[in-house]
Amino acid sequence: MNLILMGLPGAGKGTQAEKIVEKYQIPHISTGDMFRSAIKDGTELGKKAKSFMDQGELVPDEVTIGIVRERLSKSDCQNGYLLDGFPRTIAQADALEGLLQELNAPLQFVLHVDVPQEKLVDRLTGRRICPDCGATYHVIFNPPKVEGKCDHDGAELIQREDDRPETVSKRLEVNVKQAQPLLDFYHDKGYLVKVDGDQDIKQVFEDIDQKLQTLE
Ligand SMILES: [Zn+2]
Repeated sequence: MNLILMGLPGAGKGTQAEKIVEKYQIPHISTGDMFRSAIKDGTELGKKAKSFMDQGELVPDEVTIGIVRERLSKSDCQNGYLLDGFPRTIAQADALEGLLQELNAPLQFVLHVDVPQEKLVDRLTGRRICPDCGATYHVIFNPPKVEGKCDHDGAELIQREDDRPETVSKRLEVNVKQAQPLLDFYHDKGYLVKVDGDQDIKQVFEDIDQKLQTLE
């Protein structure tokens, strides 16, 4: 099962990734984890990546793709992999295609957990935080017992700057601009499988599971 998982912030991609790797027994390979472990293991590429990151620079594609190569060559990828957060650009997607051919682990599907942008704004702006104890709530998914008050200490809940509608909308816009060319790329190649992410978590996974089984 060789997969890429795509979805905007708030679409529930992380939760679905957990469920997929548990059921299909494939490793969840996120870019962040991959960089962290390459740096921790002190590989040549890990050192290179770190030197760019330390200077606040983007890690060049040839380093990133090298790290992906190292990761996908590990024995736990024999039954497949779930790539998450990579590729981010068409250039990376092209490089990945060559790499996967070389490793004889061709991509099967690109799963897109699709949630309308306005729904994502609702999800992402619903977070509330207690300024006293740091407890987090969500007005829809995890509301406090009394509206606007912390369950633990009754403090007035606040919304962080990052969770305000204008900030959230801008962040989503940036992500959409980045993701759309990739979605088109994989759609044209016949890899893209869209799943309706605007349902409860369990239902989304059932849909994913069903699609994976019919497509396998
Ligand atoms: Zn509190």
